[in-house]
Amino acid sequence: MTPSASAATPLSLWVVAACFNEAAGIEAFIGAIEALGLVEQLLLIDDGSRDGTAAVVRRDIEARRQQPQAMPVSLIELTRNFGKEAAMLAGLDQARGRCDAVVLIDADLQHPPELIPEMVRHWQNGAEMVTAIRSPEDQESRLKIISASGFYSLFNRLTDSVQLVDGAGDFRLLSQPVVRALTDMREGTRFSKALFPWTGFESVDISYDRPPRSSGASTWNVRRLFSYALDGIFSFSVLPLRIWIAVGTVISLISLVYALVLVISTLLHGIDVPGYASLIVAVLFLGGVQLIGIGILGEYIGRIFEESKRRPPYLVRRISASASSDRQGEA
Ligand code: UDP
Ligand code: MG
Repeated sequence: MTPSASAATPLSLWVVAACFNEAAGIEAFIGAIEALGLVEQLLLIDDGSRDGTAAVVRRDIEARRQQPQAMPVSLIELTRNFGKEAAMLAGLDQARGRCDAVVLIDADLQHPPELIPEMVRHWQNGAEMVTAIRSPEDQESRLKIISASGFYSLFNRLTDSVQLVDGAGDFRLLSQPVVRALTDMREGTRFSKALFPWTGFESVDISYDRPPRSSGASTWNVRRLFSYALDGIFSFSVLPLRIWIAVGTVISLISLVYALVLVISTLLHGIDVPGYASLIVAVLFLGGVQLIGIGILGEYIGRIFEESKRRPPYLVRRISASASSDRQGEA
């Protein structure tokens, strides 16, 4: 995308938002995107909401069909809750090859739409990707901030291929080449936070303050965040497997030295029967170390198992659109 191209033909920008139980706030969200006046199409993915989000959007789409001037809105309804990662992928799959850029955004207005014009300006100046980075001093609890920064430094130490930036999430503008790259990656356990930088496309970073949710509740609890963090590490690093070579080597060397000490002391002092304490400590310690090693192997094998089934990442129940799109997508 060159800046001169933008002067000749208007650039086509899609906004893609995954929605899960957003019925109360979704109309305000659609209104906020429409008010920008820059968006060619708003694509919402209903990720199996149970509060009638899809029905609210369908009604909105129906009303838009009567108003040719209104911003086109489309809705992809997934058959169940597949999770935000899968829902975003469903949106990007639709947008592939059909627009010049996509803005990924949360539907709960925690990603301020007012930032989109600034993102578009950077894109028109040639940015391949624009990332909105959330300022650290916003609403989150201290515990969440500390655990998040701990995770980022651990992740960055374990992986060579990508570096994560604290506060950089899914609120991004992606030019079409980035959309293609992301939709080419069909891994089952998606960890988008790291997939974006993995593509290697350069990002221009801007920062924002994250407001509280407009309505509804976040679905991210401690357990889900922990398992998401593990997904990130295990899908981007094999270092946890390699560690066991080092652990095993160190323990073997220590055992060898200890064996020599035992042999020599037996030769010098004869057989020394009491030894229960050292024996039980060694047995328990080694047992624990082996179980941790097996557990880590299990994490990777479980992921290989999940990938090997090659199930589709999401299933679509229906697609509704207020206007037909003239550009063909591609597989
Ligand atoms: N979301 C989704 N599927 C899910 C959970 C969340 O599509 O299973 C959407 C949700 O509707 C919102 C975005 O993902 O637009 C971010 O979710 P949430 O606000 O719960 O996360 P947080 O803002 O706390 O990170
Ligand atoms: Mg949110």
